[in-house]
Amino acid sequence: MSSSEGSATDLSRRVLSLPVSPTVAMAQRAAALRSRGQRIFDFSVGEPDQDTPPHVSAAAVAALHAGRTRYAPAAGIPELRTAISQRYKKDYKVSFAPEEVAVTVGGKQALYLVSQALLDRGDEVVIPSPYWPTFAQAVILAGGRPIFVQAQEKDGFKVTARMIGKATTPKTKAVIINSPCNPTGAVIDHEELLVIGDMAQRRKFTVIYDDTYAHLTFGKGDSSALQILRDSVGERLVVVGTASKSYCMTGWRIGWVLGPRPLIDACVALASHSTQGPATFAQAAAVEALSGLQKFVQSLAGEYRRRRDFLHPVMAAIPKLTCVEPEGGFYLFPNVARYLRAEMPTTLELAERLLEEKGVAVVPGEGFGAPGYVRISFARSLDELKDGSRRLVSFFAGLRGEKV
Ligand code: PMP
Repeated sequence: MSSSEGSATDLSRRVLSLPVSPTVAMAQRAAALRSRGQRIFDFSVGEPDQDTPPHVSAAAVAALHAGRTRYAPAAGIPELRTAISQRYKKDYKVSFAPEEVAVTVGGKQALYLVSQALLDRGDEVVIPSPYWPTFAQAVILAGGRPIFVQAQEKDGFKVTARMIGKATTPKTKAVIINSPCNPTGAVIDHEELLVIGDMAQRRKFTVIYDDTYAHLTFGKGDSSALQILRDSVGERLVVVGTASKSYCMTGWRIGWVLGPRPLIDACVALASHSTQGPATFAQAAAVEALSGLQKFVQSLAGEYRRRRDFLHPVMAAIPKLTCVEPEGGFYLFPNVARYLRAEMPTTLELAERLLEEKGVAVVPGEGFGAPGYVRISFARSLDELKDGSRRLVSFFAGLRGEKV
């Protein structure tokens, strides 16, 4: 019998196989090197470099001065539930009543709560791959089974109804659609979404739609995807969203779930026994973000477009590397497999070497279910991207044996 049995180091099976998020792990390594005085280009983070808009911060300060420092309802403050409901109506013409909205501690908790509320042991959840790691872990922590389906680089990593259809079984409880996708930047086509909606009705599953990067798209700006889906699947649609990216509010921890009343009530019950919810004054600030002027969001999307338009051609021009042009979000996901070799067999070693030799942090593809790829965030200033990308170009030239 081990001496640790029954002690506080004798951990549950649930957490023993739970890795720290690979994106968080890489950001921590980069921060540690930086604190030792090294110049680090941190392209690992999924976080806007801009500050929260001043009018939003001012609303939080005003809320603090007004004494809004007490518990908020576990579902979120009523003004925020209403503001979220109205935002979706204005932006996407999709209708969820305030009672069909739960405020959560970021999109991460939204996914956690939805998974806990929907899944029983053994329920399957189809997740297109490459995928954001938390999707899989939220499902596993709820006792569900992630079923990964591969989106192809040659198709721009587009998720298709055919892919999803092949992966569904009678045990499929839900399908997760993340558009624009982290890490690939792919946006799902409406026709595909319609077919998936139709499939959800016939095969009886729920569509969990993560629209974290929905405001940060670079295409024509057609925003009717959610409305199409809502019209076709009704109560089989759950939307998971966040103020983190569109409003530069990552640290405020404001996210939400939109869905049918029984699901929302279950999420609220779970929150009432765990986090209760985000800080009351942070919720007041989010009301200002969501219901105030939206010019900030539009200019943010423009800024990310400029950054993508700079960085993508630089990366795509590197020999022996291929890079799909992202349609939204703020990541590039280049295929660097042709640079791997015996002493550097995976992108884990490649990313390690890139950080050591050039001070550039990127996230290895393994964590996204995509060995041979790396994720490069362009949520950094253009100046930083210019300097950092020179280092990237020189790193790959060095690997090709060229003098740098
Ligand atoms: N969904 C996706 C696809 C994301 O990339 C993220 C953040 N990286 C989130 C949800 C959650 O963000 P937050 O918890 O900050 O709201």
